[in-house]
Amino acid sequence: MINFFFKTYGCQANVADSEGLASFLKSIGCNDVTSEEEADVVIVNTCAVREKAEQKLYTYLGRLCIMKKSKQFMKIGVIGCVASYKRDEIYKRFDLINFVYGAKEDYKVLESYLADLIVKLETTKQVFDDSGVVIEPAKNQDRDIKKVVQQGPSLLKPSRMMGSMGIFKRQATSKSITTRSKELNRSFINIMTGCNKFCAYCIVPFTRGREVSYPMQEIIDRVAHDVANGSKEVTLIGQNVNSYKDPETGFMFSELLRRVAALEGKFWVRWVSPHPQDMTVELFDVIAQYPDRIPPYVHFPLQAGSNAVLELMKRNYTIEQFKEQIGWLRTRMPDAVISTDIIVGFPGETEEDFEQTMKAIEEIRFDWIYSFNYSPRKHTLASRTMEDDIPQEVKSRRLDRLQSCQIEIGAEVYTKHVGRVYEVLVEKRFNDGKLLARTPGNVRVLLEGPDSLIDSFVLVRILASSPVNLTAELVQAELTPEVPMAAV
Ligand code: SF4
Repeated sequence: MINFFFKTYGCQANVADSEGLASFLKSIGCNDVTSEEEADVVIVNTCAVREKAEQKLYTYLGRLCIMKKSKQFMKIGVIGCVASYKRDEIYKRFDLINFVYGAKEDYKVLESYLADLIVKLETTKQVFDDSGVVIEPAKNQDRDIKKVVQQGPSLLKPSRMMGSMGIFKRQATSKSITTRSKELNRSFINIMTGCNKFCAYCIVPFTRGREVSYPMQEIIDRVAHDVANGSKEVTLIGQNVNSYKDPETGFMFSELLRRVAALEGKFWVRWVSPHPQDMTVELFDVIAQYPDRIPPYVHFPLQAGSNAVLELMKRNYTIEQFKEQIGWLRTRMPDAVISTDIIVGFPGETEEDFEQTMKAIEEIRFDWIYSFNYSPRKHTLASRTMEDDIPQEVKSRRLDRLQSCQIEIGAEVYTKHVGRVYEVLVEKRFNDGKLLARTPGNVRVLLEGPDSLIDSFVLVRILASSPVNLTAELVQAELTPEVPMAAV
């Protein structure tokens, strides 16, 4: 049996892609292992959004290549965003990498290629196990996967595979997964890919291409399928999830969310990552209409509090519009949990601009923020046309201030949970022995309890809070669907 391992960097879309391919590999008899050392095939799914992630990738690939020297039949592949635009560089720097396949390309072709690779690898591994001989060179880079698949001999051509993938019959198709045992059974479903927004700092439109939305009915069928197979939490994923538009009917994201929420079963629907420009009143109406199905958690990426910087970033909204949308949400769901992204030190950000970001954070009082120093990414508008003119020490000082302020806000907003009773979904056990669960608002909860609680909805009482976690005691296990989700 061939063992495979995925190393996934980056966003939920990458997680969904990896898990979709993992499902495929399992469907053709491969075994999912938990470490590179045990794997015959290692696939690295890459993220290009931050330079740091790219540097981490190169370090990791170097480690894999060293590992491969003592296990020459091992196959190493690189997929995802960095693979889209650093393909030649990866092949050149790491001559033991077998294949590189970008995020914009058709993953059905990749699956067909992998199917052949696995069959060949079974023979190689068998010969190696029997004789210690490796029958193919370690350096056999397949530089053109499409050509390899076309020339065959492919055991699973894309057209045949689509049939074997059940409801997925189109080239542009959603991918979904369920996770391993002892963890929450959840699925991640890509409902669209690519982005048309071209924010000045972002590489995604270059690595993933333009927006393509997948057919609504296929997505709904997939959610129903996964829920029927035990998924307790379904996450709808898109680079710009709320600009989704059904290619067949023209229905928008709010309608998709409404239809998914109306499905039978006991599950939660989450959705990432939205853009403020596409937030609509209808969307918040739908979320408010299905409180037991769509948890009141919204990731609302602000990026900067200054209109001048927002304009430079090409974000297409002002801080006033952003606050108005937050108002729409809080009017309908006063207890909604809201997180955001902030970039510090964008080219041209003055002290005054930064103060406006601080003011926005203090006023809006997000539950948590993801914050980063700006670093230029090749191809983007900012890297081509703007000087990275904020010194590193200024960026770091601003980021420290922002994060310290958020720690205080987080500590305060988290205390409101203490004493409340929530329905939570238990995800897994941490190494320190505690169970990790999440409230409907996606807040992390730690509690004591047996493994049998994993992958179930339970009722807990919040005992204490810190800026990142809540601590809780179990009130009731094995909830029936009638028990309300919201605080009681
Ligand atoms: S909306 Fe902007 S930040 Fe988000 S993926 Fe598109 S270009 Fe990147």
